[in-house]
Amino acid sequence: MTNQKRVPWDQYFMMQAVLLASRSTCQRLSVGAVLVRDKRVIAGGYNGSVSGDDHCTEVGDYLVDGHCLRTIHAEMNAVLQCAKFGIATDGSEIYVTDFPCLQCTKMLLQAGITKINYLRNYHNDPYAMHLVTLKQIELKQIDIPEDALTQFHVADFLTTDHQDSTPQQ
Ligand SMILES: [Zn+2]
Ligand SMILES: [Zn+2]
Repeated sequence: MTNQKRVPWDQYFMMQAVLLASRSTCQRLSVGAVLVRDKRVIAGGYNGSVSGDDHCTEVGDYLVDGHCLRTIHAEMNAVLQCAKFGIATDGSEIYVTDFPCLQCTKMLLQAGITKINYLRNYHNDPYAMHLVTLKQIELKQIDIPEDALTQFHVADFLTTDHQDSTPQQ
């Protein structure tokens, strides 16, 4: 059995956001986001095009004024997943790899998100910061230390030894 320490909650959710970012199809920035309610992931998203449209990674970004028009942001995809499948977002928090843009910040606040956990600052918009203060949204920058990653061995959890042994706590 593994004797690794359990991953702390903040890292647990943020590492999932990082994993989702690896699915991004926009070349501008790879962003991942998970929505969490009562310590449970309720939805996730990464930045990419509308389902069925071309991927930026295949045809290049659709850039206008430095923004990619093709891309739906990770945060929006996570909220839209909730809209599509009928999941309440009120009172949830988001774990997102890069601080949300103004449009996403407005959307998250309006969807009832109460806390923004982020890994990296990214052109933090002054008006977005004003809204965050106005709505008393909690902000938390999450740190994933290098050693937390190097000491984390996914393969340790893929063992099949347990099948013949007695269950352990
Ligand atoms: Zn793009
Ligand atoms: Zn955005």
